[in-house]
Amino acid sequence: MRRLDGGRLLVATHNRGKLEEIAALLKPYGIFATSNADHGLPEPPETGTTFIENARIKAHAGVAALGIPTLSDDSGLSIAALGGAPGVYSADWAEQADGSRDFAAAMRRIHAELVESRAPTPWLARFTCALVLAWPDGHEEVFEGHVPGRIVWPGRGDRGHGYDPIFLPDGFDLTFGEMDRWEKNRLSHRGRAFAQLVAGCLG
Ligand code: IMP
Repeated sequence: MRRLDGGRLLVATHNRGKLEEIAALLKPYGIFATSNADHGLPEPPETGTTFIENARIKAHAGVAALGIPTLSDDSGLSIAALGGAPGVYSADWAEQADGSRDFAAAMRRIHAELVESRAPTPWLARFTCALVLAWPDGHEEVFEGHVPGRIVWPGRGDRGHGYDPIFLPDGFDLTFGEMDRWEKNRLSHRGRAFAQLVAGCLG
């Protein structure tokens, strides 16, 4: 496993919240992170059919643009009774005609499709986060974190984002939407993928 030894890192995202979270995590290791937005780089189309494929596309586009190590992530919610949907299309399901995102509508769609499918409860689901760290010589390290759980209806809690209110992680009584940020980050798919990255490439 290759280590990332200090220096500059591009985080392939336009999401300021994501960059801040990742930059804070990397700072103790002497790594200075900037994002696509800081460099005026476009985000490439996510044409992959798996989380890892999409993360690879974003990481290698970053390397090609700036020639420095690039970290990307791709994530989403997969529901067993819906054949893994929305999966890599998790953000698309919330997309509105005017380009805005409406997750309440996306969650209603999930519930409607589950009811229509007549799938028995529990409606098993999992969140996935894929991380790809790519270097200019083509080397890459890939990590994937999962958190298994089930879909609950109606959703509960307004502390999170996206599909958090309808996701109840296994072994907990609180949905992701009801958990405080610290508790969610500790057990989340993103937290698990980052723990692997830190252990493999930074620690
Ligand atoms: P991306 O990884 O930025 O492509 O986003 C994927 C989409 O998956 C997000 O827009 C959310 O809809 C959903 N998603 C990913 N992680 C979470 C999470 O922790 N909670 C709720 N929704 C999430």
